[in-house]
Amino acid sequence: MPFSEQYRDLLIQGARKELYRATELKVGYVASMLREIGFSCTQCGSCCRGDHSDNRVMLLQQDILRISKYSVLSATEFSLPFVPDEVENALKGNSDLSDLVPFTDSDGNIHSFGWMLRRKKNGDCIFLEAADLSSRCLIYDLRPALCQTYPFYMEDCKLHTSECKGLGSDISYADSLKLARLVLDRYIRELEERILVYQHYEHFEHVGTNIDYSLERFKKGHVFYIVHDSEGTHRRRERM
Ligand code: SF4
Repeated sequence: MPFSEQYRDLLIQGARKELYRATELKVGYVASMLREIGFSCTQCGSCCRGDHSDNRVMLLQQDILRISKYSVLSATEFSLPFVPDEVENALKGNSDLSDLVPFTDSDGNIHSFGWMLRRKKNGDCIFLEAADLSSRCLIYDLRPALCQTYPFYMEDCKLHTSECKGLGSDISYADSLKLARLVLDRYIRELEERILVYQHYEHFEHVGTNIDYSLERFKKGHVFYIVHDSEGTHRRRERM
């Protein structure tokens, strides 16, 4: 969504304050919260599947670099522009195309902020082995920070959880420390990247309420994205 210079400065200030507070957090404190909640991965693979409530995996730049360096897929093959739910639903034809308006520029490009893992036609993560085989993660050792820390994430220096059957189970002291380090590291990197995204952000002319031009492009089966990430602005064309 387009925003003014002043608003951008406010966002940067807010993110910098949060980053400062995040770097003050102690691993032991986060680990104690993890033990209080409790967690043990049941290896069910549910969070990777399309029938999970939200299996989108946002990618940090270091995730993209690691996976593209060591997996068999290139970044273009495994990543997709990250868009909010309403944009994804509109592009899939599940909701009104007017939901695209706030994210569409006068040239018909959809603006996105960051990247996520691609999913297969059935909605499963592109790296999830087929269910009739083992349902295992094919890039387990390279998996994104979000997957390494699921179902935990931090926002406003507080620990949050996503839907997961493993919550509430005992976690050992050693495992809680290990996981807390990963959760904190992810949180700090997310904030650092957020600040860079704001700094690199290039304002775009909003399409207004006239999205006919975009609709013409969609009818031809293509979506043109402009992705704002921590390294700058990128163009990506995707088949619908
Ligand atoms: S990368 Fe691996 S752990 Fe993460 S969602 Fe995909 S299959 Fe699951």
